[in-house]
Amino acid sequence: MSTSSKAGVQTYKNFINGKWVPAVSGATFPVYDPSTEEVIAQVASAAAPDVDQAVAAARAAFDSGPWPATTAQDRGKILHKLADKIRQNTARLADIESRNSGKPIIEAEYDIADVATCFEYYAGLANKVMGHVNPVPANALSFTLREPVGVAAQIIPWNYPLLMAAWKLAPAIAAGCTCILKPAEQTPLTAIEIANYFEEAGLPPGVVNILNGLGETTGAALVAHPGVDKVAFTGSAAVGKIIVKSAADTLKRVTLELGGKSPNIFFPDADWEAAVDGALFGVFINQGEVCSAGSRILVEKSIYSKFVEAMTEKTKRIKLGAPLERETKMGPLVSKEQYDRVSSYLEIGKKEAKVAIGGGRPKQFGKGYYLEPTIFYDVDNSARIAREEIFGPVASVIPFDGESEAIRIANDTPYGLAAAVWTRDIYKAFRVVKSLRAGIVWVNHMQPTYVEAPWGGYKQSGFGRELGPWGLEEYLETKQVFVNLDETPIAWY
Ligand code: NDP
Repeated sequence: MSTSSKAGVQTYKNFINGKWVPAVSGATFPVYDPSTEEVIAQVASAAAPDVDQAVAAARAAFDSGPWPATTAQDRGKILHKLADKIRQNTARLADIESRNSGKPIIEAEYDIADVATCFEYYAGLANKVMGHVNPVPANALSFTLREPVGVAAQIIPWNYPLLMAAWKLAPAIAAGCTCILKPAEQTPLTAIEIANYFEEAGLPPGVVNILNGLGETTGAALVAHPGVDKVAFTGSAAVGKIIVKSAADTLKRVTLELGGKSPNIFFPDADWEAAVDGALFGVFINQGEVCSAGSRILVEKSIYSKFVEAMTEKTKRIKLGAPLERETKMGPLVSKEQYDRVSSYLEIGKKEAKVAIGGGRPKQFGKGYYLEPTIFYDVDNSARIAREEIFGPVASVIPFDGESEAIRIANDTPYGLAAAVWTRDIYKAFRVVKSLRAGIVWVNHMQPTYVEAPWGGYKQSGFGRELGPWGLEEYLETKQVFVNLDETPIAWY
């Protein structure tokens, strides 16, 4: 049993070495429904002794037991079974995700479908990992072996809870690593749920451990732990910097998927309706709680006023509502903390720019962390609302004059996760694509993300890539094997 029930609120344990265990201290932390502000679960709060147990389990599973002997083909089969279980339980998982994170149920269903697809993709890739034969002189043979990097600590945020877990677990399992996943304290419930599928899918105990707790305790202890070989982190740039410093002591491999302040650039020749929709979708999907949100909307001056007006009109149609209602397009923000943070940016924005629409709490909700989709315009790129990641439904519209100014403003940011450009002019589109310093650039769209293509940032949006073969690479070491074919003694003396 993974859970026990006390006064109607479930208490969830941590999943270590194939078993559900309470925190050594017995401590738990509350988990909320952000649409009602009510506690919906209590979860075991791990600290250093729990981290020791989880690392010992992952270490033992990596170093001995059945896992190192498992073939790549077997790991693929396990991943396929996990994908099947996830698909069979889409409705249940989407319901949990939507309740826990506040995202609309329709979006949660898309997320769970993507989770299953991610496991399937890496199921297929597991037995396609190959080394090379290296062209050394004829009296020797040199080849490379690809080996799993070891025990991976995987720390994820709350905006796409199970999807972020899948992006990390699936390639790690395919590579033959063992894992300790730490979900965000706000949204642990779907990761806990899928641990129930591990045994049936054939994952040996200790291969994947789910450890819940707070970032500053559980997360920090994992990053510092000498038994961990690699840290895969998705979250804020501020925490990414802390992680790099801490991981330096043991020189762990680190990959960072951090935040962004992505430019979404509109030229006058873009398809008008698609462009306006793309601007809104790019910044408001998932309540704007998206690392690649197109939160800086750059519009050429000749269409600027008309574009802001059209965005404003269409924003009025966005249906805010309870996450589980199927017509809801925007739910509450994930937590009180995030609501307060975004609200403070709304006040900053009102001093820095003009408000086209929104700017506060929607009046129809008595409870819940709801905020209006907000468009600021006449924003200068030096404003805080243009430079700092807000991670909520807040757009900053910035005018520009010509292609080179668009590129200059777009690149004038410490971040470099994503960008998009809208134009029918193929020459202009590709000139802009080549000039943008970002890890992902969309042309005439914003946000489509496929498991087959790489994901990750330039500059302070992190390093390393997830998804596709790039995501698997990050969990592999390269061993060079040299074989001497020349029996002549070494002419050393
Ligand atoms: P945080 O950086 O605050 O937290 C991310 C994770 O790190 C959480 O699990 C958190 O735990 C943990 N953590 C916090 N402090 C530490 C620490 N000192 N040591 C180790 N772990 C720690 O980010 P948010 O959860 O607020 O997520 C939003 C951020 O994530 C945004 O900046 C967003 O852009 C980014 N993001 C990036 C993506 C990408 O692919 N590039 C995708 C999705 C989000 P806890 O929550 O328990 O405190």
